[in-house]
Amino acid sequence: MAAELIEGKPVAERIKTEVKEAVDRMPVAPKLVSVLATDNAGAKYYAGSQRKACVEVGIEYELHDAERIGGADDTESLKAYMRELNNDSSVNAILQLMPLPEGVDQRAVQLEITPEKDVEGVHPANIGRLFYGDFSLSPCTAHAVIAMLNDFGVELEGKETVVVGHSEIVGKPAVVMLLRSMMNSPTVTCCHIATEDLAFHTRRAEVLIVAAGKAGLVSGDMVKEGATIIDVGINRVKVEEGGKKKTKVVGDVDFDSAVEVAGAITPVPGGVGLVTTAMLLQNTLECAKRQS
Ligand code: NAD
Repeated sequence: MAAELIEGKPVAERIKTEVKEAVDRMPVAPKLVSVLATDNAGAKYYAGSQRKACVEVGIEYELHDAERIGGADDTESLKAYMRELNNDSSVNAILQLMPLPEGVDQRAVQLEITPEKDVEGVHPANIGRLFYGDFSLSPCTAHAVIAMLNDFGVELEGKETVVVGHSEIVGKPAVVMLLRSMMNSPTVTCCHIATEDLAFHTRRAEVLIVAAGKAGLVSGDMVKEGATIIDVGINRVKVEEGGKKKTKVVGDVDFDSAVEVAGAITPVPGGVGLVTTAMLLQNTLECAKRQS
């Protein structure tokens, strides 16, 4: 039996509507600034989607590209630029777009962003709040995973929940967020690159969250019957369709085989990615609230 689809669109729309209503009530629109220190086409495209999403809900968006930041291309000059933005009261939220110029210390630049403007929710002050169940400024993708499970009505209490991936922006914060409740949390296992028998763990999972960045890492035979799967992965793979070579976006889960076994599954594209973008808007609003 094919699994139910957990679509990102309804969750993203709910969040965007809430953000828009809140922004409409504000005397001044919040402003998000993305800093891009390299001339990277992919990052510029991504900035374009950020702008579009911001415009939809009435958030002001600026891309500060290499030209605008005056050629700042080393750790110290980028940190100084972040301090300038921290001190600019017209800027509410700051995002460091990747990639950075070679040799730049990404963490050092990121940490320079004041916690109140840390729209990605990765400053230690904001990450620390997750431990106490405060998700108000949390990493967008991890928060998107939790929102999708909640909106879809997935009962997590006591459930065997396996997270594949332990990155600082997705896997680790997702684990902490899943353990939010003192009494009703799921039982969480986190797998990663050093996990010896991945399938042993994934086959036990009633809820399976995969964020590894490896196309097709989890196949249907690694999935428990009726499991809920949240596929975070975004991988561009080359495929041949009708004799033509194409690039296709796929997740970390082999959708065609997993959909036959799972109870519910997110599509890629059309799943977590849409909700992540909505979370960025929600975080921009939260930054603006913290400064008002
Ligand atoms: P990352 O490279 O920082 O981390 C990958 C994690 O997967 C690591 O913890 C690693 O140990 C683990 N891993 C890698 N290979 C593994 C294997 N064979 N078995 C078990 N664990 C393995 O990646 P990330 O930034 O966390 O992103 C993960 C994926 O999610 C990527 O495909 C990325 O594009 C995608 N992503 C999607 C969104 C979204 O909005 N949907 C947002 C961020 C990231």
